[in-house]
Amino acid sequence: MKTGQINVQTENIFPIIKKFLYSDHEIFLRELVSNAVDATQKIKFLSTNGEFKGELGELQVEVILDAEAKTLTIRDRGIGMTADEIDKYINQIAFSGAEEFVKQYEGKEGAEQIIGHFGLGFYSGFMVSDKVQIRTLSRTDGAQAVQWESNGSPEYTITEIEKEDRGTDIVLHISEDSKEFLEKARIQGILDKYCKFLPHPVLFGTKTEYIDDPSGEKDEDGKVKRVSNEVPNQVNNVKPAWTKSPADLEQGDYDNFYRELYPMSMDSALFHIHLNVDYPFNLTGILYFPKIKENVEVQRNKINLYSNQVFITDNVEEIVPEFLTLLHGVIDSPDIPLNVSRSYLQSDGNVKKISSHITKKVADKLSEMFRKDRADFESKWEDLKLFVQYGSLSDEKFAEKAKSFTLLKDTDGNYHTIEEYKEKIAPLQTDKNDKIVVLYTNNLEEQFGFVKKAKDRGYQVVQIDGPLAPHWLQKIEQAYDNMTFVRLDSDTLDKLIQKEEEIPSKLSKEDEEALKPLFEGVVNKEKFIVQIESMSADDAPIIITQPEFIRRMMEQQKMGGAGFFGAFPETHNLVINANHEKIGDILSEKTQKTKEEKVKQLADIAMLSQGLLKGEALNAFIERSIELI
Ligand code: ADP
Ligand code: MG
Repeated sequence: MKTGQINVQTENIFPIIKKFLYSDHEIFLRELVSNAVDATQKIKFLSTNGEFKGELGELQVEVILDAEAKTLTIRDRGIGMTADEIDKYINQIAFSGAEEFVKQYEGKEGAEQIIGHFGLGFYSGFMVSDKVQIRTLSRTDGAQAVQWESNGSPEYTITEIEKEDRGTDIVLHISEDSKEFLEKARIQGILDKYCKFLPHPVLFGTKTEYIDDPSGEKDEDGKVKRVSNEVPNQVNNVKPAWTKSPADLEQGDYDNFYRELYPMSMDSALFHIHLNVDYPFNLTGILYFPKIKENVEVQRNKINLYSNQVFITDNVEEIVPEFLTLLHGVIDSPDIPLNVSRSYLQSDGNVKKISSHITKKVADKLSEMFRKDRADFESKWEDLKLFVQYGSLSDEKFAEKAKSFTLLKDTDGNYHTIEEYKEKIAPLQTDKNDKIVVLYTNNLEEQFGFVKKAKDRGYQVVQIDGPLAPHWLQKIEQAYDNMTFVRLDSDTLDKLIQKEEEIPSKLSKEDEEALKPLFEGVVNKEKFIVQIESMSADDAPIIITQPEFIRRMMEQQKMGGAGFFGAFPETHNLVINANHEKIGDILSEKTQKTKEEKVKQLADIAMLSQGLLKGEALNAFIERSIELI
């Protein structure tokens, strides 16, 4: 037996590891299983390299739970360790054997697949254990099996033991306050989370399968009986789709992998991007575009970050730009530092590069789709647009690329890029100041009347809606400074697209002065500002509008921006068409009473057409209308 001191500067390293290394205690299992996978990967590598000539045996990792003995064992058939190696790799904390191995074999295929990097993972076992044992037999000829044991003080013992199989058992004697890790379901859950795609089989207990009765016995219906069969429970798929070459995968494989990632999801993805980069950093992965839901928050944080097939986190905010967190899928990069704090991640150069690379890939994919099959792209636009708007608002480079595939859908269902719009539609919709006025509706149903009037005049109306629309419009207006977006109900058409020629008014100044108070008498003056305009005679007698800037302000306020306006009062303009014959008629009514009745009826109709007539006022209008019949 040999006793010694674990070689660390600070005596108090253990409490530090316990408290600060990982805030999440369950991580210990990820660390120990990935060490076991590393050891397995190494023996395989040495064997193919001709440095190990013995039998490889069954290269798998087993997780063995013994609730009675209160132990959890992680067993591998990897390279094992000699007593000297334990001294070097375990006793010298933070001397990472993985790092050394990769350096030694740099450039040779397989070596870069080693997971470890920091030489601290092993000690995470102490977060949940009173005592940790390493029982190991090295791959070297005639090696002596040894057991290392420590209770988490900086003292350890090494003893010689009997062990038949090459490889290592890490035996955790689970402490009282961590006894959750003696529950089968808990361990299964952790393995599912972190080890689902590790590159060597990881087994945990057995599971029941139902198979045809091997003896061929039949039931009453003459069918072969189904019988239960206990088989080893393998927790992982050793070759997940993202590790394969895109050339070897078909659409169906991507769909299946999506389901493998999100077994609970009912939807399938719209399309995917297979990432495969090896310079200037390593990155593989598959990102899926989900069908965007009204409530975008529920679909956030579905990208899983892996490092060499070990799950790290599903919180990728620091690694991908926020708008990309709407995507689903997997990113795998050995270049992302794992065991360090999030604030460190943000400042890491590789992480920044990865982030902008992914943004670029996504933009490129979208423009490629647009170029290759425009009809297909258009059919997906409704699901894509929120994402494209979000991306354009949050990332300048993305915004620049998105210009080429951002679409405007008109009310006839045709799509135009902004350039196409400028070429084909803009000439008709340029006002006297040479501004291109893009008329839009956010609700074809509700604004039907406005749309019809605009189209009767030969204008084209586009449909723009969604929660980001107000911000996005502003962004486009900034990018194209001669373009302005106005919602159809924000003013009268003559005002929205002002032309040189003025329409003469049929009303005299005195007429207007007589009319205005009549209307002001029937509407709530706080909410409606009465105006008389000389419009085309074929326009409606009264139009209720809400200036574009007021509405955008309120929309942004609702989304949490523009707070300094406080409770911005909701006002509308009640615009009276001086040239409409029904308006002219009012003044020729004989009594004040009949004038007021007509005014009231006309104002109510205008409000009704805007969905603004409600409750008591609506009821009164209906009763009055019945009366009239
Ligand atoms: P890292 O994995 O980052 O190198 P760890 O603290 O997890 O750091 O492990 C330290 C070293 O101990 C490993 O690099 C490896 O050399 C050795 N080691 C740990 N677990 C095993 C194992 N199951 N089989 C062989 N060697 C191991
Ligand atoms: Mg490790």
